[in-house]
Amino acid sequence: MKRLLRWLFNLAAGVSLTLFVLIGVFWVRSYWIGDAIEFRRCSQLPRFTQYETCSLRQAYGTVQLNYQLTGQAFILRKKFVPGLSLEHSEPQQGAVRIYTPIWGTHSLNPQSTSGWYVVLPDWILLIVFGVMPAIAGMLWRRDWSRKRHGQCLHCGYDLRASPGRCPECGAISTAVATSAK
Ligand SMILES: [Zn+2]
Repeated sequence: MKRLLRWLFNLAAGVSLTLFVLIGVFWVRSYWIGDAIEFRRCSQLPRFTQYETCSLRQAYGTVQLNYQLTGQAFILRKKFVPGLSLEHSEPQQGAVRIYTPIWGTHSLNPQSTSGWYVVLPDWILLIVFGVMPAIAGMLWRRDWSRKRHGQCLHCGYDLRASPGRCPECGAISTAVATSAK
């Protein structure tokens, strides 16, 4: 059970680290290139056509998640192409350089458009995804140092005099026994 938990923790830390690196890359990139992934859907309702747009974009060190629902898309209709699209453009002119999260709802025209948005600075995501890899790194370093000094991996008790089973906590550690020689 403990091993499984540790394995799951390492897996999560690995995924976290991958995201951490990716976000870091996109953060730097976002000052020159605005990357966006957008999903658009068009559904026919009994009385009108509904247009939905969901997008995730990077601009000036922020991640922006946006959802927009439009009932009568007079302007959108011409260029509304349903499906998934990837865009790489200059960071959006309207993008604000923010350092704290912001969120809200939009209703450009209460009759036809509604939706919500969340804008997160990349540094917050870096902290969120950096915590687990940092803990994993510290644990790994602790284990490595205990192994090197012939200590019990479990509790850190000096095992050089009694290899095999730890007299302090009872943990069996063959790795310690061999490295203690
Ligand atoms: Zn021990």
